[in-house]
Amino acid sequence: MTAQEKYGIITKVSGPLVVATNLSGSRMYDVVRVGDKRLVGEIIELSGDTASIQVYEDTSGIGTGERIYRADRPLSVELGPGLIESIFDGIQRPLDEIRARSGDYIARGIEIPSLDRERTWDFVSAVAAGDRVQQGDILGTVQETEILVHRIMVPPGISGVVEEVRPGNHVITDTVAVLRRDSGPLELSMMQQWPVRIPRPYGRKLQPLDLLTSGQRVIDTLFPVAKGGTACIPGPFGSGKTVVQHQLAKWADADIIVYVGCGERGNEMTDVLMEFPELTDPRSGHPLMKRTVLIANTSNMPVAAREASVYTGITIAEYFRDMGYSVALMADSTSRWAEAMREISGRLEEMPGEEGYPAYLSSKVADFYERAGRVVCLGGDSREGALTVVGAVSPAGGDLSDPVVQATLRVVKVFWSLEDKLAFQRHFPAISWLRSYSLYDDAMNRHLEERVDPAFPRLKEEAMKILEKEAELEEIVRLVGIDALSGPDRLFMKTARSIRQDFLHQNAFNDEDTYTPIGKQFIMLDLIIHLHRRLEKAVHDGAPFAAVESLDIDDEIASLKYAPPEGLDPGELKKRADAEVARRTAK
Ligand code: ADP
Repeated sequence: MTAQEKYGIITKVSGPLVVATNLSGSRMYDVVRVGDKRLVGEIIELSGDTASIQVYEDTSGIGTGERIYRADRPLSVELGPGLIESIFDGIQRPLDEIRARSGDYIARGIEIPSLDRERTWDFVSAVAAGDRVQQGDILGTVQETEILVHRIMVPPGISGVVEEVRPGNHVITDTVAVLRRDSGPLELSMMQQWPVRIPRPYGRKLQPLDLLTSGQRVIDTLFPVAKGGTACIPGPFGSGKTVVQHQLAKWADADIIVYVGCGERGNEMTDVLMEFPELTDPRSGHPLMKRTVLIANTSNMPVAAREASVYTGITIAEYFRDMGYSVALMADSTSRWAEAMREISGRLEEMPGEEGYPAYLSSKVADFYERAGRVVCLGGDSREGALTVVGAVSPAGGDLSDPVVQATLRVVKVFWSLEDKLAFQRHFPAISWLRSYSLYDDAMNRHLEERVDPAFPRLKEEAMKILEKEAELEEIVRLVGIDALSGPDRLFMKTARSIRQDFLHQNAFNDEDTYTPIGKQFIMLDLIIHLHRRLEKAVHDGAPFAAVESLDIDDEIASLKYAPPEGLDPGELKKRADAEVARRTAK
């Protein structure tokens, strides 16, 4: 084939979609450069020598007859030291670098490597000449940031005997190890590449059994997510999705955070870009970015780039999982990703499904969340890694029958249902205790029993019952007023209010309240339920509800959220509660 024949020729341009011929021999998801401006595109449909190409940059000014330049490789990411602290766009172009070169408005067709080629890293080898290594084995490490050790792994599909290792300072493309294989020597650098649409391989999947603590009481106690689990947070605009995602990014007990922002409006993304670098990692005191990778679609990037961004993000997250880390990926919001799919599908003139979304929406969503999990990594040391995926969904008007919400709920195991009614009452996080659920509850209960207190699961159950009872009683109160309720029922209302206000309500912007260790969560709920049981007995034994309606201990319970966990004495608190109840109900 001559070089001339390698060019495709554009026959049609329709927004982010370009059709071209003369592309026989190309494969699905191959990367191409489109037109004289050499915009980045990806083949998403092939028929004979005609291809439909999704273009990740603005196509205005591109015309028919212009060329398509083939790269003959799939859309891939670069993986290696330099990922952490980076801010990339949806196709892993470093935003700061681009801005430095072309100003705020990203020039089209710009070619910049994803990872810095000039920065050197101190490679500490973990193998010696003569060692036999296989895929996933750790060749060495690099202290990438103050708080993160980057493990350099043998890429998937490769094995051999180490012939030479080269510790010391290197740029990521330098050879750091040479393997001897039957087919000849192979030079390995600190960087690998991986096609974003193909999940990275692992040894085997394990059941997620450990709680991913987040310090958010309604989440950890009532609707927990497991390390390696999946969760979905749909909610209308202004209901607190972003704050929840930020709280998770800050506080979740994960080694690495990958945050994919597919903002709807330009300014929303700017918020993330401005805010994130400012956040401090509460555990280490270092900036949160020291263990974060940010993928951000800026407003001047076309919708198609959002489609790629979730894949770029999850591939990077899998790479850190493969090192044996616990990784949490946040995608905000997956609705924008689905809308990108819808736009492209429409332009491809595919048969539309529900609300114009393509019929394959569900399977794409399922495939995405399927990449989460707790796994045994590749490599001889059988280390474990976990990738937790939390997706925000922003359906129009908060409508949960929205196809993206429905497709997501079919696959994720945790549902945090944000309610605008709660947000309106300023009850934050506005996660509905009646509609949310966690299918990890059984496994997480075992975790809580073993690691926190054997009584924890029973407390949770009792708290949920009281909240459900309150919802039932509210109907009656609406009809006939609170005075019509019996003493025991009024007690249910009192305790439910305490659970809601003193436990579930949590202010993300208060220094003490923003994070509650799981042990303190137990102490708080234990005291509320302990008091409830005491009062239940007293009322049952004939004490009038009015005598216990308002107690001094109520105020103490209300201020527990602001109390440092170290100074708490749960036994003493319970004793005081008992004494007050006894005093108030003494005949
Ligand atoms: P969304 O992303 O759903 O549009 P945001 O996360 O931006 O909504 O939340 C909207 C506003 O609600 C925030 O600016 C904040 O004032 C308030 N808010 C949300 N969650 C909390 C919280 N946990 N604590 C205190 N205020 C909150």
